[in-house]
Formats: sequence, structure tokens, C-alpha cells
Amino acid sequence: MIDAKNVIAGEERDAQNREDVYNPAHPQTVVGTVPRSSANDIDRAVHAANEARTGWRRLGSMARGNILFQAAQVLEAHVEELGQLAAAEMGKPIGEARGEAQRAVAILRYYGGEGFRTMGDVIPASNPQTLQYTVREPLGVVGLITPWNFPLAIPMWKAAPALVCGNTVVLKPAELSSLTAYRMLALISSLFPPGVFNLVLGHGTEAGEAMIRHPDVNALSFTGSAAVGQHIAQIATARGIKYQLEMGGKNPVVVADDADIDLAVDFTVSGAMRSAGQKCTATSRVIVMDAVRAAFSHALVERVRTLKMGDPLDPQNYLGPVVSQAQHTKVLGLINQGQAEGGRVLLGGLVSEEQSGYFIPPTVFDEVVPTATIAQEEIFGPVVALLPVSNIDEAIRVANGVRYGLSASVFTRSLSTALTFVDGIQAGMVRVNEETAGVELQAPFGGMKASSSHSREQGHAAIEFYTETKTVAIRAV
Ligand code: NAD
Repeated sequence: MIDAKNVIAGEERDAQNREDVYNPAHPQTVVGTVPRSSANDIDRAVHAANEARTGWRRLGSMARGNILFQAAQVLEAHVEELGQLAAAEMGKPIGEARGEAQRAVAILRYYGGEGFRTMGDVIPASNPQTLQYTVREPLGVVGLITPWNFPLAIPMWKAAPALVCGNTVVLKPAELSSLTAYRMLALISSLFPPGVFNLVLGHGTEAGEAMIRHPDVNALSFTGSAAVGQHIAQIATARGIKYQLEMGGKNPVVVADDADIDLAVDFTVSGAMRSAGQKCTATSRVIVMDAVRAAFSHALVERVRTLKMGDPLDPQNYLGPVVSQAQHTKVLGLINQGQAEGGRVLLGGLVSEEQSGYFIPPTVFDEVVPTATIAQEEIFGPVVALLPVSNIDEAIRVANGVRYGLSASVFTRSLSTALTFVDGIQAGMVRVNEETAGVELQAPFGGMKASSSHSREQGHAAIEFYTETKTVAIRAV
């Protein structure tokens, strides 16, 4: 049992109300309790972040980078604990949860290093006696709003670049992953000067809403659903502050007629079924050419049939539950709708009466038409839909025929097919003979169309978001 607290100005603080957190694999089991914070709690945290701004900025990027290195070391010693907590709180299988904790460590190291690298350019001036250069300045207090599906990595891939650039932050993680965020911050908070890294736990419509409207929040970085993202964009635009949105996906894999079928099956299974399909980059559609459709679908079904589902803390299990009762109901509703709209279930679909947790068996649909709801809407569950096509041009047309454009992959041995796909696909992250999920932390991450607000996270791209450019000209007299 963990009783989480807010972390404000370096101290653990309670809110007036608290809520229980349940284990999605055993919904009767309470894993911990969390504060349900109000606008007053947000106000305290933003105030603390504002007070800490100047000192943190003046510390210099190398000293800030060194603090991130220390934070990495502390978290690395707690990877197992954090992985177990994430598995119990939101149902991610333990192997993946450990990997995610390790990823948070790697992110801290990467951005710690950024504190030692160039943060501007020297630019020629028309007067040779003038030194002209740019510096990248922090934005001030940055509000970070994160989803539950990566409870460690996403908070850290926003916080680490924001902090090394000299911003102070207030993190409002998702309701369903607050215990994990709290434990991560509790481990490292004493490394930072008070007020630099604050955490407020609570509901999106209460604490989250207060944060996006707070006059002293200078920028917002959000990852979550498209609907909430659009709302945040409206508020941030009206307030004239910088914002960044990472939202949903409907990520396709194209299996060309010359694909390595075993490889395509391997990466389709891991892309669609790891984390029970609850990744923004999860493989959700398989656009498969007629010539290999029978061989591919047969091999896919046989592989998916072998996946074990059960308690995420048991390393034997490939899939855990989905995160909540609401998500369970939503995914099952979409499976029913998929059948009603003519899709044929090759495997899965039905929920076993024996399991009390929010489990959904891995489900494979065939003969799905591109206009079907399950071919258009993000499902966020262990469900994959096969859509037949006859050639690469049709495959690209179908792949692009959704509102999202996050990640996409093609399986082919032909360089020409690969290049045609890379050129034609509308996606922020394009992969050839690779999984749609699993983009590396040093590479830009983000989507086109409704998947993102056209900025990028991770890698050096994050530094651009968390800073603005100041152009300086110094004339010698
Ligand atoms: P969500 O939009 O419901 O919630 C995300 C966060 O926003 C939570 O912290 C929530 O409390 C907060 N929030 C909700 N309403 C708010 C409001 N009015 N004001 C301020 N904050 C508010 O999303 P979720 O269910 O937690 O996450 C799943 C979604 O996240 C999926 O759509 C998935 O595709 C997306 N996602 C995207 C990426 C990416 O990088 N593109 C990564 C992971 C998840």
C-alpha cells in the first residue's frame, strides 16, 4: 500500500480529499491512495515553481545536467520497485514495466548530457566588430500533463528536457498512474532545489483544468487523448502560451507481397499486443496484400493463440489487463461494433467469465473495410484489424485514410516499395521492416494530422520546445 502525496516546494503535501487506487488485474484489491487535488493545490505548486525559477535558471545547464545524472543513478537502483508498482497500478506486464523504468533512467542520462552541449549558434554580423549569436532561454514554469499508459517514461521525457533547459515544472500525471509518478518523484525530489520539480495528483477536470488556466504557467506539454488535447490547445491559444500536444494514433502495418512473413508476424504481434495494445504507437491495422493474405493471417492467428494472458506481475504472461473498467467496456463495445459492421473475428473477441480483472483476450479481425469504426477509431486494446489490398498504392491510400498520422510500418524486401511507402505515408514516424512502436529516445517523436500539434518530443527536438531563441548582437566600441 502506498499513500501518495503531492510534492510541492520539495515537501510532501496532502490535499483535502483522497481516493483509493485499485489493481486492474484484481479490481477488489486496493494498491494505494492518492490525493484528489483542487485548484488551490495547483496554485501552491505553480507559486513554488515560479519562486524557484530564477535560481534554477542561474545555476547553469551543466549543474542542472549533473542533477539529472544523479537522479538517473537513484532511479536505476529502484527499477524493480518502480516496475512492480506500475504493473500493479496500471496492469503493464512486469517485463515491460521494468523496461519502462530503465527507459526513464536513460532519458535522464540523455538530457543530463544535453546540459553540456551547445545551446545556440554564432552568426556572422555585417560589422566584423560585432559578435552576433543566439542563446536558448527557458520558458519559465511549464505544466506537464501526462497519460497513464507510460507512467514513468512519459513524465520523464517531458520533465528532463524542460528541467535541463532551466524551466521549473509542475507535473499532473493521469489519475490512473498517480502512485507510480509519486514514487518516482519521491525518490529524486530532494536532489532538486525546492520548487523546481513539483507534482500535483488529481483529476483532469479539476487539477488539470486549473493548471492549463493558471496565469503563471508559461507553457504546457500534454500527452493524452485527442479530445482533451484540442481543449488544451484552445485554452493555450487564447492565453497566448506555447503548447505541445501528443495524442492518439491508428497505426498501420503494410505487409507487401514480398514481405518476410515471419518478421511481419513477429512485429505485428508485439506492436499490437504488448501492453495489451495500450500504446499510442500500437499496431492497430494490418493492411495486407492479397498475394500473402492467407499465409500471413494463418501465421498471425497461430502466433497470437500462444500468447498467455494473466496477472502482469507473473513474467510468464505476455498480456495483462486493460487499465480500467471504463477502458474494458469501451474496447468490448468496439469489438462488438467491428462484428456488426462486417468484420470477421479470427481469434479472441469473447471475454472469459472466470477472470475478474479487466482482461480482454487478444483479438484478430479479418475482412475489415477501411470505413469501419474499428479501422478508423483508436481502440487502445489488444485488437488488430486486417484490411485486404492489392498493391502498394492502394495500401498507402488506405493507410492514410484516417484522421491520425503517428507511426506506420511496411514489411517488404523491395527498396522501391519501401521508398514509395516512406514518401507517400502521412505519419510522423515511418519504419521499414520494424515495429510501429518502440521509437528510440534520442530520435524525434511525434505525429502528423490529428496525432500531434506538429511539434516533436524526445531527442534534441525537445530542447526546441522547452526554450525560445534570444538573438544577441554585441558591438565592440
Ligand atoms: P486523457 O486525455 O483522458 O488524459 C490525459 C491527461 O490529461 C490526464 O493526466 C488527465 O487527467 C488530463 N486531463 C483530462 N482532462 C483534462 C482537462 N480538462 N484539462 C487538463 N488536463 C486534463 O488520456 P488518457 O486516457 O490518460 O491516455 C490515453 C490517450 O493518450 C490515448 O488517446 C493515447 O493515444 C494517448 N497517448 C499518446 C501518446 C503520444 O505520444 N502520442 C503517448 C501515450 C498516450
